[in-house]
This record gives sequence, C-alpha cells and structure tokens, in this order.
Amino acid sequence: MRKRIIAGNWKMNKTIVEAKSLVEALRKSVGSVTDPVVIICPPFTVLAEVAMALKDSDILIGGQNMHDADSGAYTGEISAEMLLTSGCSHVILGHSERRTLFSETDRKVNAKTKKALTVGLTPIVCVGEKLEQREAGITEKVIEEQITGSLDSLSEADIEKTVIAYEPVWAIGTGKVATPEQAEEVHVYIRGLLADEYGNDTAERVTILYGGSVKASSADGLFEKDNIDGALVGGASLDADEFTAIVQAMK
Ligand code: PEP
Repeated sequence: MRKRIIAGNWKMNKTIVEAKSLVEALRKSVGSVTDPVVIICPPFTVLAEVAMALKDSDILIGGQNMHDADSGAYTGEISAEMLLTSGCSHVILGHSERRTLFSETDRKVNAKTKKALTVGLTPIVCVGEKLEQREAGITEKVIEEQITGSLDSLSEADIEKTVIAYEPVWAIGTGKVATPEQAEEVHVYIRGLLADEYGNDTAERVTILYGGSVKASSADGLFEKDNIDGALVGGASLDADEFTAIVQAMK
C-alpha cells in the first residue's frame, strides 16, 4: 500500500499570528490523523513557530522551496539543512510558480531533489502542463520531459521516497479543477513512466498527488480514482474548515 497524503501549500500567506491561529485549528481537527498523512507547507518565516505549535501532533511540515547548495553566497535562499532543522520533513520542489516566475528548469529541480534526499527530506516534485500545451495535445510529452528531467538518475530507493504532484498549470489557483478522469489519465501515465524506468512494483509504491483548485466539494470524485493518492492543496489549505474537510474526504 502506498502512502496517502494531503499537503497544504500556503504559498506567500500568513504572518506569525495568522499562522498560529490556523495551525491551532488544524491541530484540533486533524492533529492525530495518520492516514492520510497531513503535511502543511508554510512560508519560511513561520516554520519555527508552526513546528512548536505542532509538537506532539501527527501533522508534518514541509518547505515550499530550497536551494541545492549546502550553504554560501545565495542571498535570499534557504538550504535543505535549514529546512530540516526548522522542523521540516518534506519540501515542495518545482512548483509551477517556481518554474514560471523564477525560471526553474528540470535540471535545477533535479539537483534540488537529489539534495533533499541526501539530507533526509522527502521531496514533493511538481509537474504539469500549461493550458496551451494541453490544447495542442502535448500533455504527455510535457509530463514525460518534466518527470525524466526532474527525477533523472534517482536510484530505486530514492524514487520510492519521492512524492510526485501532478498539477496542471491551468488548474492552479483558477478554480478550474481537472475532472477525476483527466487527472487519473495523467497519473496512470506518470506511473507508467516510472514502471518503464524502475519496474512495476516500485512504480506502484510511489505516491502521486493531484493539485489544482482542490476543494472539499471536488475531493471525493478525485480520491475515488485508483492512482490519485491524495492532494496538494493551495488556496483551500488557508482555511481550516475547508482543509479539514479535504482530509476527511480522503479518510
Ligand atoms: C498549488 O499551489 O499547489 C495549488 C494546487 O494551488 P490551488 O489549490 O490554489 O490551485
């Protein structure tokens, strides 16, 4: 059985006071849920406070990005070790906003993924096509490039530790959620790519999340699909009731 996960990506939202209040509510509602595994990914500035507030709960914490170097002259950046020692167990890598707004390439995502695995952080590697790519019928080609590039030369043991998030760019923050069938089709394709490279048994053990405007109302249909192992949730993770309802939908 592969791990089921609901992860919340807070993006650039929540001050310390706001974060504490959201986390207190989540601790009460889903603080002892272990299946699905619940992960929240707050901005760097509140990681320590959030980690303190979640002590002795089952909610895990992730970063939203990191640099692939150990340390050095990289103004404004955060290292894997900094995340780890701030209480993170996971890190989102290659989010479409990083790829589009900060010019992150598959090669860069690959370097970050390897570094995260080296220090013991679980990478949540995001892939997804843009609307024009879907309309041009090249979704699979785009996904194949991102998967092979971002996960290049990972060992079998490493790929089993890696979480993949399929996030069609046209569905992120737009309110346009992919249909369960559209999402499942790409999840099956991704699992097939992993099976080609690592064999069926290994591919079956990799958790693949869907992300893109997931709300409690759309969660049930998505989670019924065999290859959708949970969700990476953006906007809806900022609201305790909505995020809790998504976790409950998977339970
Ligand atoms: C995301 O940022 O990963 C995301 C899926 O956002 P939203 O749920 O708001 O579309």
